[in-house]
Amino acid sequence: MIIVLKPQTSKADADEILQLIEARGLKPLYMPGIERTVLGALGDERKLANLNFSAFPAVDEVKPILSSYKMVSREFKSENTVLNINGVNIGGDRFVVMAGPCSVESPEQLQSAAEAVVEYGGQILRGGAFKPRTSPYSFQGLGEEGLQMLQQAKKDSGLPIITEVVSSSDVDLVCQYADILQIGARNMQNYRLLRAVGSCRTPVMLKRGPSATLEELLLAAEYLLDGGNSEVMLCERGVRSFETSYRNMLDLNAVAFLKQRSHLPIIADPSHGTGIHDLVAPMALAAAAAGADGIIVEVHPDPIHAMSDAQQQLTPEDFSRLMQQLRAILPCLGRKI
Ligand code: PEP
Ligand code: MN
Repeated sequence: MIIVLKPQTSKADADEILQLIEARGLKPLYMPGIERTVLGALGDERKLANLNFSAFPAVDEVKPILSSYKMVSREFKSENTVLNINGVNIGGDRFVVMAGPCSVESPEQLQSAAEAVVEYGGQILRGGAFKPRTSPYSFQGLGEEGLQMLQQAKKDSGLPIITEVVSSSDVDLVCQYADILQIGARNMQNYRLLRAVGSCRTPVMLKRGPSATLEELLLAAEYLLDGGNSEVMLCERGVRSFETSYRNMLDLNAVAFLKQRSHLPIIADPSHGTGIHDLVAPMALAAAAAGADGIIVEVHPDPIHAMSDAQQQLTPEDFSRLMQQLRAILPCLGRKI
């Protein structure tokens, strides 16, 4: 921690702070300058957590050296976290593709989507049974019936399942079906849900809120790790911007930044990140180039009649083309698929 003192602060005021730092077991540093004096505290800053240095009259500014998030940071763990989902590694050298419909609509729809995912080489099946919708009049998902359809599709296809949980009271239920729990963008800062998912042992993909900063995303992930669930991946799914030509702006800076700052796997969602099916493939390729560990994309056998997100879902043919393009570029990036 760096503590910048106000001009003309006396040595006695500085000493008072230095003694407090020393008393907590950190190494105090005294760095007098021509105009300002700067103090340092070397060691575990958590020991200073309840000392509010900025409230001291002599203190101008306090700058922590360690980030506010801890367990999710690379400072805490330098090697990449690799999740093993029924034999599919996420965060390792293989790029992972999760695909499937936005919503589970019927056994036939899901089966047909799952067949396309298997045929073209996706490794994980997505599908929402509990749907957080902007309008209360939109399709809200099939609930447990949808989870049962996912279970059947998993049995038939062999693909592990990722599906969203929207409420802390549903966590136990969704855990009975899901190989990965999805916490959606709207719920990134639902701290009761984060606590409930933190205390279960099912792997989880945490999506970034549409207006959340990366620090807020990492702190939300910190809740999961703090609760004891370390099987966590992050997902960039686009943020709200001033641009109106597309639904969201996929923030690929975030992919590169999160990869540097955190050991957790990073997934990109170019479906929600663009909201337009023609933009999904180019942005999926861009996300791979930016260093994402995988993508989650919406694939529907008949997007025109989809009950949610019709405009952004890929047809099986679109998905097949995207997989071919990924196979072409990933080796150039030193990555397998
Ligand atoms: C989804 O993946 O179906 C979804 C609702 O995404 P988001 O939470 O990113 O809007
Ligand atoms: Mn969707």
